[in-house]
Amino acid sequence: MLRYGCFKIGTTCSSCGQSLPINGPYRRLSCTACFENMDVSPDIVAGFLNDFEEEYEGLTEGQGRGGTLMSGSGTFKYSYWRLEPCCSSCRTPFSVPEVLGTSKIRCGECSAEYYVFPVPDWLRKLVPSARFCCTPQPQTGDTDDKGVEIDEDSTKPIVMSCPQCAGALSVSARSDRIMECAYCNSEVYIPDAVWQRLHPVRKTEEWFVGFEGKNKIQLQKERRLIDQEEEKKELQKWHRKKTPEKIERKLKSILTVLGIFIALSIMVSVLITLTGNEKQDVSELYSRYAPFFIIPVAVGIPLWLAFKGIFSSQTGKGRECKQALARLAGKHNWKHEGAEYRSSMGYIRVKYRRRDIEIDPDNDYAIEVDASDSPFYIKTEPPGYPHDGVQRFTTGDSRFDSLFPIRYANPELAERIEKSVDEARIVLAPVYWFLDRWQQKLGRFKIGWCDAAVHLAPGHGKMTGSSNKYLLAEDLEPLLEDMIVLAAGIEAIASGREPDLP
Ligand SMILES: [Zn+2]
Ligand SMILES: [Zn+2]
Ligand SMILES: [Zn+2]
Repeated sequence: MLRYGCFKIGTTCSSCGQSLPINGPYRRLSCTACFENMDVSPDIVAGFLNDFEEEYEGLTEGQGRGGTLMSGSGTFKYSYWRLEPCCSSCRTPFSVPEVLGTSKIRCGECSAEYYVFPVPDWLRKLVPSARFCCTPQPQTGDTDDKGVEIDEDSTKPIVMSCPQCAGALSVSARSDRIMECAYCNSEVYIPDAVWQRLHPVRKTEEWFVGFEGKNKIQLQKERRLIDQEEEKKELQKWHRKKTPEKIERKLKSILTVLGIFIALSIMVSVLITLTGNEKQDVSELYSRYAPFFIIPVAVGIPLWLAFKGIFSSQTGKGRECKQALARLAGKHNWKHEGAEYRSSMGYIRVKYRRRDIEIDPDNDYAIEVDASDSPFYIKTEPPGYPHDGVQRFTTGDSRFDSLFPIRYANPELAERIEKSVDEARIVLAPVYWFLDRWQQKLGRFKIGWCDAAVHLAPGHGKMTGSSNKYLLAEDLEPLLEDMIVLAAGIEAIASGREPDLP
């Protein structure tokens, strides 16, 4: 069953400010006032179509919505309605040909012309349910984005004479603004009058899109359910693998307590033996001396546990980390905030190399750098909350997959990653580069939609809740620099550029 939407979209020329209609799924508009071309991001038109699809069920025939969208590429006025194709001047409905080729239809009442053509591939990718368009204005003069071929008779060429040699020049809608005279080879600038005749000022008009099948949101939801199932299974395995580590940690602390207890018992026994009261009952002796070792154990261990965290920034590796942080702050003239607190490493929150960075070794992630519009969402630890619009991928590289039980990317990249291990290495090149340098020490790692963050082991235990976090002093600076390279690499991949990795 086809669903129809009627769209009316317009913007203004970015060069001269004249209103500029978008009467079809077009990415390049040419201004009829200043003749400049203006590129419109594919997301704009696709966004309106997807919004319409999302609202379709809630709309009755003829009902719609409109508004203004302000975006980086301009301001767009839009309206859309749930409406079967009809002539916008006389409202006569027309039947769209069944065959999805390119065709021209004429209104039976007023003979207004409409062009019907399948939606271009770029739009189909962004709006998977869009099938074809029906618009009174076909795309002209755009080589890579031909919506439809225009009949020659609809753009009759105009003949003018060359201002240089008076030779006859035939100018058509496809001609460039400056054309070469075939007789004298001089460059002729086509006068406004001729140009405007060939490129008549267009008004914003209604055009139609036919939709069929599941829309983007439905497809995303379906995919997300499958992804979640897969992730659940994988996380169960992941938890089983991590369990021995947890038990080991618990066992260690129990053994420590036991060890202290036994040592104290032996000490007390030795003391008793040395004092030489052999005749006395052993149990009596224990009841007399027990407080001397039970009280220290009962009071000492909780105290030790409580203060372990507090003193971590003042002893050993923690102290070295705090000092290294202070040196780094001094070197760049950064503020080492919170350093006055004895229990804290302090933190640095600044803009460095045009990026927001945060160094906070006490945190779950010691270093965080921002990365705009990251196409990845990957984490070494659950839980993961991937945003809409990303889908789960599996690289086939077991090292990578077991390191990141949570791994998502935007659909385009996710599909590329799953194509082959080699392709995955290209798409994930910045992450691989980072792993090659730090995987041995990697404690925690994540790439969110707006940042990348890391903590290293042994400075950060692999499990949640472990206290005294720090970074090895010697790791602090190189790790920060590498995180910045990583963030830049992620952004390069996001925008289709080659990442610049040292
Ligand atoms: Zn203009
Ligand atoms: Zn009509
Ligand atoms: Zn000439």
